[in-house]
Amino acid sequence: MKARMLLDAPSHRPSGSRLARNLLPLLLLLLLLLLPLLVACVSTPVTGRRALNLLPESQDLELGIAAYEQVLQGEKLVTSGPQKELVERVMARIAKVAEPQGFEWEVRLIDDPKMVNAFCLPGGKMAVYTGILPVAQDETGLAVVMGHEIAHAVARHGTERMSQEMLLQTALGAALSQAKESTQQLALVGTELLVSLPWGRMQESEADHIGLMYMARAGYDPRAAVEFWKRMSALGGGGGMPAFLSTHPSDEKRASDLKKLMPKALAEYEKAIGSPAGAVPPLKGVAPGQK
Ligand SMILES: [Zn+2]
Repeated sequence: MKARMLLDAPSHRPSGSRLARNLLPLLLLLLLLLLPLLVACVSTPVTGRRALNLLPESQDLELGIAAYEQVLQGEKLVTSGPQKELVERVMARIAKVAEPQGFEWEVRLIDDPKMVNAFCLPGGKMAVYTGILPVAQDETGLAVVMGHEIAHAVARHGTERMSQEMLLQTALGAALSQAKESTQQLALVGTELLVSLPWGRMQESEADHIGLMYMARAGYDPRAAVEFWKRMSALGGGGGMPAFLSTHPSDEKRASDLKKLMPKALAEYEKAIGSPAGAVPPLKGVAPGQK
């Protein structure tokens, strides 16, 4: 990766030792800035990961409401009918088991058959596009999508990302004001690769994990998640981008992660539907041995 990064650097490349001399203050400053911020760590639900978040939880809802209004402006909303009721039902069932503090759950169905998407903003403001409904296929499939999106909000991934950006802007701005142009470029490329992308992938995997447990706790068969992501990746042309440069986990990683989590998710599902342990009925719509 290093070789590729340098290809785009200016022709006056710093020598190895000069590069190290330029980068050292940057690294020291980053470290100095990071240390006191360890106190700003919060714990994510379900996974228990220690996450850095500089913003108070109350800010999530404020930011979410502002963004929600902006995104919904000019969108055609579905205001009645069975699809709207379906989306609201899944939201209510998952929100009930998610139970974060200070959230105001709300979901809108946006009439846009070409948009295969859904999102949940900080604070619980969510939107589902009609384009994802055929991929979800049924209520359980929709619970996979909505569980994943709700997980991003509950784990406060949005404000976590903003906290990282704030920190990077401060640290890089201060350190690079005295550095050479070439070092600046290298540092920025490095930041993108080493910080931004891996964080994004980690957040995606975490949303998979939390979403799976939430859907199971809400009484939706978690095995449907495996099938849903298969359909989703088939839409994306067979998984195209390798996980290293993508913010989404590769299809293989996603499938193996889900497989690892499945026994725990099934135990949650059994509890939710009142089925004795190990006696969970086969997944609807999938013939035995097909999974
Ligand atoms: Zn996601």
